Amino acid sequence: MSVIPHSDAEGGQLLPIPDPAESARLLGGADSAGPGGATGGAAADFRSGFVALIGRPNVGKSTLLNQLVGQKVAITSPVAQTTRNRLRAILTTPSAQLVLLDTPGIHKPHHLLGERLVKTARGTIGDVDVVLLLVDGSQPAGRGDGYIVELLRHCRVPVHVALNKHDLVDPAEAEALAASYRELLEGRGDFATPTPQPPLGWPLHPVSALTGTGTERLVQALSAAMPPGPHLYPPDAVSDQPEQLLMAELIREQVLSHTREEVPHSVAVSIDRVVDDGPRTAVLATVLVERASQKGILIGKGGRMLRTIGAGARLQMEKVFSGPVYLELFVKVVPGWRRSAARLAELGYRGD
Ligand code: GDP
Ligand code: MG
Repeated sequence: MSVIPHSDAEGGQLLPIPDPAESARLLGGADSAGPGGATGGAAADFRSGFVALIGRPNVGKSTLLNQLVGQKVAITSPVAQTTRNRLRAILTTPSAQLVLLDTPGIHKPHHLLGERLVKTARGTIGDVDVVLLLVDGSQPAGRGDGYIVELLRHCRVPVHVALNKHDLVDPAEAEALAASYRELLEGRGDFATPTPQPPLGWPLHPVSALTGTGTERLVQALSAAMPPGPHLYPPDAVSDQPEQLLMAELIREQVLSHTREEVPHSVAVSIDRVVDDGPRTAVLATVLVERASQKGILIGKGGRMLRTIGAGARLQMEKVFSGPVYLELFVKVVPGWRRSAARLAELGYRGD
């Protein structure tokens, strides 16, 4: 895998990395080729652009992203709100390149961190070519889905809807479940409003992010919705997540998977030092918690919990970065870090 180092972690600006072959083609005079203006041949039919993955927490956005690019680029967990940073994953097929933006789940904000998450998700909608609204298709459409549909109703780009978790759906129920989402989009049945809104004809795609069922057709549909364009990234790139953020996310994933209620929502990870000393990469990282009691849980009896978390994270890092990793983890109590805007900025969460 190649993770492209990207110093501008928070910047909304994407600097496309030119593909030499593509540059040559463009310099050859085809640069104004728009839809229908292309000059023929495979490269001229190529499409590329940005897809925002939007959805409530826990519907499977990160799982889908990993499934689509075939590698672990986003962390997933049964705990809602594990995705904090906007993540670009890159999917290249013979005919298209999709840059997928994972967003934090949209929900009603509870505190400062929650507001930031919602802002990032909303901000993402503004600068993409297609929105992919992901819903938990194993459940009938509900109010939470309605909230997001209203948010997206006036967005200017095409919206596709993936009915995820199709593997959990009893085939006998599938039609009724899909119908509930059509009712939602068309403002009928349970979703009828006093002042009728124009029906939305967004295509529905049943998929399983977990097993991969339906994802090929989804990719075809999304690719067809992209504007014609060149590669924005090298064809073998899968993510432009800065390595250190990815490391922090892998550690946080282990914390989430080994601890319960008390800890997850108030944990952050900072990568303090990365030293490439020959054959292996040494990483010093600190897990930040809000209370001393949480520090106790994370360290565990005789340091056992921290060792388990560290071992799990090291294993994931070695897979992702394809080489031996030495990981040293510390735990630090920073009271109220969630409410401190300065601290959030320092940890790399987008402020605007
Ligand atoms: P996110 O908050 O939307 O990014 O959701 P995640 O990708 O973290 O997934 C939340 C939970 O749903 C995890 O436990 C996933 O394993 C699970 N999940 C995601 N997609 C599927 C799916 O297609 N089928 C099933 N059965 N579970 C899924
Ligand atoms: Mg996620």
